[in-house]
Amino acid sequence: MLKPGVIPENEPLLKVGIVLPQDKQQLITLMVEDVDAAFLVINDDSKIPLVRINHKTEIAIENDSLHIESYNYPEAIRNIKIIQENENNSIDVYPVIAGRGFHWAKHIHVKLPYTIELKIADNSLLLINELPLEMYLACVSTSEMSAECPGSFIEAQTIVARSWMLANVEQKHIPLGIDVCNDDCCQRYQGVNNLTEVSKSGALKTKGQVLLYDDKICDARYSKSCGGIMEKFENLWEGTALPYMQNIPDAEVDFKMDLRIETEMRKWVESVPETFCSPHYVPENELKKYLGGVDEEGHYFRWSIKVSQEEIVNNLVDKLNLNISTVVSLIPLKRAGSGRLLELEIRYLDKALDHHSLIIYRDYNIRQALHKKFLYSSAIIIEEISSEGSKYPKGFIFKGAGWGHGAGLCQIGGLGMALKGYNTKEILYHYYPGSTLKKIYH
Ligand SMILES: [Zn+2]
Ligand SMILES: [Zn+2]
Repeated sequence: MLKPGVIPENEPLLKVGIVLPQDKQQLITLMVEDVDAAFLVINDDSKIPLVRINHKTEIAIENDSLHIESYNYPEAIRNIKIIQENENNSIDVYPVIAGRGFHWAKHIHVKLPYTIELKIADNSLLLINELPLEMYLACVSTSEMSAECPGSFIEAQTIVARSWMLANVEQKHIPLGIDVCNDDCCQRYQGVNNLTEVSKSGALKTKGQVLLYDDKICDARYSKSCGGIMEKFENLWEGTALPYMQNIPDAEVDFKMDLRIETEMRKWVESVPETFCSPHYVPENELKKYLGGVDEEGHYFRWSIKVSQEEIVNNLVDKLNLNISTVVSLIPLKRAGSGRLLELEIRYLDKALDHHSLIIYRDYNIRQALHKKFLYSSAIIIEEISSEGSKYPKGFIFKGAGWGHGAGLCQIGGLGMALKGYNTKEILYHYYPGSTLKKIYH
């Protein structure tokens, strides 16, 4: 496992949780294509060739221990490891949850390389995939990019993902003994399913390279589009400010606009300034050619959505458990340098029609409160849709800039820079000013 604050001298192994106790899974099916290329270790001591089990094998929890289908082991099995020595091999594992905790969660097959470990935690299965960091990066960080992407962008994105991983600040799953989980909660990892030649070469060409600041690996967070100006770390998350995340225009010029001022923010959102993430650098109809996980419309830089009175009330009941019948108004109280909201006041009527006011703080909570799926960005201006016969609005229009938190690498902006001919280092130093690129292992 990774050690926080420690810069590794060699390529580390990473433990990725694939099936977690919260999935409440009792059974897993493994499909092993080449049984000769793997072996099995039971209870950390008995090593047997995998050829003794079937190509397709179910492993289930029975009487508080693990049971391997059609294989009798004389003792209770507490843990199982399947070790694949050839890096090109993988084992198909089913079912694995994708979209854990979301209404669209589904079961998928994943093909896992290297070591698979199975044990029981909380009366449910815990399945861990242990693999070298570079292989993991090739599977996650660049799996969204197509071969059409310029190399300098692919390399920059890979270095950013590696730095974030090794900075290892969040550590959400320590009690389970894993570094990260397989889902969006950490980074989406679906084994070698998404491995491509592009992602492999991105990892290989930048092997061991990370961004450092003050001899520490940068907590290199990134998002899809900053909207034109990058956001500061401390405006988004708890913890001390990071000097390499500032309010900097994502452009060749400074716009000299203060987006903390409401009128300036309105001008900003209603215009299309020439930033790297704007359609001036990356035409929106070409976005899909470069990046997976973007929709056809591709409106990431400037967008507008309508939300009805009913939708927003329902969402506030769901998310905040608010006693509310009508939203009277939504008032931006404080903005950060990228125009993202730091404080939003919601004036509303409760079910007895009494007036109330609630202030919501921080980008994340505001995006959560305003939209059932999570608003694309909090860099928005808000317009009321008036209704005939009522003094309260029948809905709201949110006009927004960017997609995601906007700190660190702006993925579409980085792509825009690369298309314009900037190299990997120039891209990285633009988004993480003051950092230095260094190879920490070979
Ligand atoms: Zn996680
Ligand atoms: Zn940007």
